[in-house]
Amino acid sequence: MPEIAIIGAGFAGICMAIRLRQAGIDDFTVYEKADALGGVWRDNTYPGAGCDIPSVLYSYSFAQRADWSRVYPEQREILRYLHECAEGFDVVGRIRFDTEVFSAGWHPDESVWRLETSRGSVSARAVVSAVGQLNRPRLPDVPGLDTFAGTAFHSARWRHDHDLTDRTVAVIGTGPSAVQFVPRIAERVRKLYVFQRSANWVVPKPDRAYGPTARRVFRLVPPARLAVRGATYLRGETAVYWAVRGDRRGTLVEKTARRHLAAQIADPDLRRRLTPDFPIGCKRILISQDFYPTLTRDNVELVTDPITEVTARGPQTAVRGYDVDTLIHGTGFLATEFLRPMEIVGRDGVRLHDVWREGAAAHLGIDVPRFPNLFLLYGPGTNLGHNSIVYMIESQVAYVVRKLRGGRVHEVGEDRYLAAHRALVAGLAGTALEADCTSWYKGADGRVTTNWPWRTYRYRLATRSA
Ligand code: NAP
Repeated sequence: MPEIAIIGAGFAGICMAIRLRQAGIDDFTVYEKADALGGVWRDNTYPGAGCDIPSVLYSYSFAQRADWSRVYPEQREILRYLHECAEGFDVVGRIRFDTEVFSAGWHPDESVWRLETSRGSVSARAVVSAVGQLNRPRLPDVPGLDTFAGTAFHSARWRHDHDLTDRTVAVIGTGPSAVQFVPRIAERVRKLYVFQRSANWVVPKPDRAYGPTARRVFRLVPPARLAVRGATYLRGETAVYWAVRGDRRGTLVEKTARRHLAAQIADPDLRRRLTPDFPIGCKRILISQDFYPTLTRDNVELVTDPITEVTARGPQTAVRGYDVDTLIHGTGFLATEFLRPMEIVGRDGVRLHDVWREGAAAHLGIDVPRFPNLFLLYGPGTNLGHNSIVYMIESQVAYVVRKLRGGRVHEVGEDRYLAAHRALVAGLAGTALEADCTSWYKGADGRVTTNWPWRTYRYRLATRSA
């Protein structure tokens, strides 16, 4: 019988591989287009890259680690953890690196998927897409980008060979990535222009190193580790959740953000320009201790006039031009273009991207009618603004293992799919996620297609009982 094909060796793909192996399902291959595992944690190597969810929670429930160096470890440590998991659970040998999947087509006669990859065709009885939502960098939609004469790169494709010392640099964007790398590069560059299109809500980052005593306690007293994990989870499910829901109680988080801004920015004009004009929770709430102070440095200037074009010399606004030698795009990812550029053709020749013409959707973010034995991890409607995505991935993986264990071809019914979709649309209505702001949660038509609007345990229960 053909194998199970998992596409992508990031957090979700590795989790899928481990859980299949633990369930005694051993015939799978992970196809990874790059030459190493790690997904976003392999790609995002910009200075200061890290996760804004503490690692006690942003880690697999079945592979808890006692020796995280700090509450919010940096990218290198998270990537090392993923490597350790893949090696420890013995799935590295099942990853076929440098193999990009271009397309997958369902063949009903044999009940198999035929995949075209950069290394030839393969057959699979089931396909699990673990390509994530944040794997394809988005460039700013301003004219003239390719006329820039200096060095330009995206935050997820950091040019470590390009020394920023004494450079004049423009950063476009002030999202979660930019707030992490702007403070790090500001110390090195001669001049830094930070182009902000929308101000963000920023709350303090309660980061600290775990000393030897804390690590020993975590190692020797697992319930202590579990308690910290639980408390971190509950914070996401309460205060941050309320903010994302647009609940009155979410104003507590907004007050915290306003106090943070007032405490760190004395200049009333700068403070005004850094105050968001949309409800908190509409896009990801940022956490940072050093972003605001960085903007008050002598060599840093916040530019809030919109960029009208980029010329050979740098970004231009209606007010003036900025001469820079380096242009860094902190402009995020093509998140709503799920599974692109892969071509997926299901039963009766139906194309997944045609089904998704009005916006991507899937039953619990995992399965779509007419696509038998195709499973999506971190699919549409499963991103979070309030808690750890690893929790969602583990819920999805458990669902997939259960369906694959049955041995029968699985296909979700149209009724179920539609009912789940309608419920999701209704659940999003009125939340802060749908308020008036630009965010990568929204497709071209302004509808949110990426996020789960409820508490995460509700998702777990739904995936368990479906
Ligand atoms: P992002 O949230 O999509 O932010 C992109 C930024 O670029 C926004 O500030 C956006 O402005 C700005 N922008 C886009 N086009 C522009 C233009 N033409 N002119 C000026 N500004 C422009 O991208 P990101 O910061 O890479 O983060 C993406 C996601 O990655 C996060 O939400 C998160 O899920 C993940 N991430 C997570 C962490 C973490 O700690 N867990 C860290 C980094 C990234 P507008 O706000 O006006 O659209």
